[in-house]
Amino acid sequence: MRKISADIIFPADAAPLSNGVVVCDDEGKILSIGAGRDFDSADVEKYQGTIVPGFVNAHCHLELSFMKGAIPEKTGLISFVKHVIALRDSYSREEQTAAIEEAESEMLVNGIVAVGDISNDQRSFAQKSAGRLRYHTFLELFDLGPEMTDDALQKGKALLEATRQIPSSGASLTVHAPYSCTPRLIRETDRMTLKEGGILSIHLQEQEDENRLFTEKKGAWVNFLHDMGCSDTWIESGAKSSLQYLLTLLSRDNKKLFVHNTFSSAEDIDIAMENAGEVYWVFCPNANLYIEDRLPDYPLFVRKGAKGCIGTDSLASNHGLSVWNEIQRIREYYPEIPLETLLTWGSINGAEALGMDEELGSISPGKKPGLVLIEGLSSLEGDVMDTHIKRLV
Ligand SMILES: [Zn+2]
Repeated sequence: MRKISADIIFPADAAPLSNGVVVCDDEGKILSIGAGRDFDSADVEKYQGTIVPGFVNAHCHLELSFMKGAIPEKTGLISFVKHVIALRDSYSREEQTAAIEEAESEMLVNGIVAVGDISNDQRSFAQKSAGRLRYHTFLELFDLGPEMTDDALQKGKALLEATRQIPSSGASLTVHAPYSCTPRLIRETDRMTLKEGGILSIHLQEQEDENRLFTEKKGAWVNFLHDMGCSDTWIESGAKSSLQYLLTLLSRDNKKLFVHNTFSSAEDIDIAMENAGEVYWVFCPNANLYIEDRLPDYPLFVRKGAKGCIGTDSLASNHGLSVWNEIQRIREYYPEIPLETLLTWGSINGAEALGMDEELGSISPGKKPGLVLIEGLSSLEGDVMDTHIKRLV
């Protein structure tokens, strides 16, 4: 049994405690949490800083780790997507496997305990099977035209079968983005996922012209489809935005993680929150700066009471895999957003989004969330930049 204390304990589902004590067993299960005065200080491990639950990375692509530093920054999403397609099979299997293991180790060091990870194939499955981190694997489908829909669905079913070999890991089929998936693929995937994990993770409104594609069938994504040798006849224009188009194809019942949301309007957020069932808004600020050099309007989401989560995206569009570093980036640009809100995004909201909140996401009795020390942060109003992450449990 361990009794652990710090300047601040941030449980994530209860008020922060000054000089509180967390008691956990040798497996890390939380037994109790209480005021420091109730404990004999000789029995207590005392740290300087803030203790938070293990971080949940709600969006990553572990399989792209080998592309670290390979794609130039700030060239826009369409250039980025073309680079990923070109580079995907250009490294040896050994290089890819080594990069995946190193990336997972980096997440562990950075206090991450669970990941919502996108997979287009099986290349990350062996590492996931080692069980060092908990995963929900989103098996991501795209077709770029109706003639490719059946193949995409077949591939998805085979991948879903293969995930059954990964112990204690959830998995579900999902679609990549509205611009890369036909309406039929989106509807069928939504229907199949309802029978499985019931969670979708969809890249949404990351680039400005995505809305134009579905409002007036114009802009850079029409050119992208033509560049890829694909027809645009399947694109349905006339919607008010990409998000509002997508919602006409999805049932209410699957949980939805919308990833990026850089160009989501106030109306989009309202409509999704009212009509789309359980929605989580996953933010990956470092990747947005890397690719588009543009950030979502986070204060708008906070004002709307939207449930935010934090993702790192992949090392193809980020210099590291750290939820805390993403929180630091948001604070740098939007210091008015309370740190408590962002810590909630990076812990309990991510755990809820991935269906792991029974065990993870908050420091509360019965859970095994992992305990992470933010060294150098002795107050939730303090400066987040000069800090360091240390995994305690
Ligand atoms: Zn992504």
